[in-house]
Amino acid sequence: MTDPTTENEQEVAVVGAGLAGCLLACFLARRGHRVALYERRPDPRTGAAERGRSINLALSERGLDALRRIDLEERAMADALPMRGRMIHPVAGPLDFQPYSRDGDRAINSISRAALNDALLDAAESAPGVKIFFNHRLTGLDPDTGEMRHETPEGTVRVTAPVIIGADGAGSVVRGQLLAAGVLEENLDFLDYGYKELAIPAAHGDFALDPGALHIWPRGTSMMIALPNPDRSFTCTLFWPAGGPAGFASLTSPAAVERHFREHYPDLPPLAPALVEDYLSNPVGRLGTVRCGPWQVNGTVALLGDAAHAIVPFYGQGANCAFEDVAELDRCLAETGDSWRLALPLFEQRRRENTEAIARMALANFVEMRDRVASPWFQLGRRAEHA
Ligand code: FAD
Repeated sequence: MTDPTTENEQEVAVVGAGLAGCLLACFLARRGHRVALYERRPDPRTGAAERGRSINLALSERGLDALRRIDLEERAMADALPMRGRMIHPVAGPLDFQPYSRDGDRAINSISRAALNDALLDAAESAPGVKIFFNHRLTGLDPDTGEMRHETPEGTVRVTAPVIIGADGAGSVVRGQLLAAGVLEENLDFLDYGYKELAIPAAHGDFALDPGALHIWPRGTSMMIALPNPDRSFTCTLFWPAGGPAGFASLTSPAAVERHFREHYPDLPPLAPALVEDYLSNPVGRLGTVRCGPWQVNGTVALLGDAAHAIVPFYGQGANCAFEDVAELDRCLAETGDSWRLALPLFEQRRRENTEAIARMALANFVEMRDRVASPWFQLGRRAEHA
């Protein structure tokens, strides 16, 4: 493998044109690097591709900061819906709005994952020196030589790059290849809980719930949240044990689904006409935390975003964190004169502690969201805090 130190003129391979990979391509292009971006899916902008998990995302200042640096904030925020607090839906009784800040001004933003990915793809595609290869699924990687094997509709393609960044998500093949080569250790911690998406369509052309809030139905052993979409619908995400008798698998007939929601989420059925159909046909997604290390090998192959540190979604920070990774890697390259050999270990050193902290906080927030936001003790504490 050639020495990649200060190799601006050599092509950097980024695997995965998801949120982190596209943003990284834009940042690297700005630094004068040539980038080959490999994506296993077809171009999602053609409409032919399957869409990724979760229809919308909560984007906060951490993520916006990175987008701002490449002038993408305005486009990303064009259809964003600010959510200034959480709206708690009890089984019975009135809704309870809990603002995110004392002055009620701070907000997190509900945005479409697909629209954000499309905006990032457009930006990467028009950045100088970036080439995007869709329908290229990485299936092999030799970390010593930098040779990658991609499966494409035309057959197997082998390419070599001096620097390879795996931005290929929680199930990262780059990480798997480093593991197989014995140069990385990983720990995958799956929750017993899974998630299923359900829809609340617009009612008479308007939002059926307050679009200025993130809606939460805390139910102890289960929990549901809903975020607004620009078409005035809401996407609900129901979290419940993935297997066993007291989770998703317990509802197998339309009547059982109907009964369950009328009993535990009584305000939902009137708002969600396709609830039973959605429930019975939509898949259950898995949730887990990825811990691995090192995130880079020899300053030539590295991981970033979910590939390095996927977290459970209860803090709404996974994508925000992946964007922060990109901004930090850009800083590390700037500080080291674009020496990958120096920048990649520095990146890991600076980001590891923060990503470990958010992984713990995300797990803790699950307990808070499904239980504590509705508990009388939490209500007392909150009222004292806002007094
Ligand atoms: P990904 O978005 O997973 O992108 C990886 C890309 O790599 C994909 O395009 C994939 O097709 C491609 N790829 C995979 N394998 C290969 C291969 N072998 N070869 C080539 N390409 C490949 N985060 C937030 O900040 N806010 C939220 O509100 C939020 N809500 C969430 C809700 C749910 C239910 C879930 C599951 C996650 C949520 N997240 C949220 C987390 C967020 O989705 C991730 O952290 C984010 O998508 C990570 O971006 P990434 O680019 O690292 O990975």
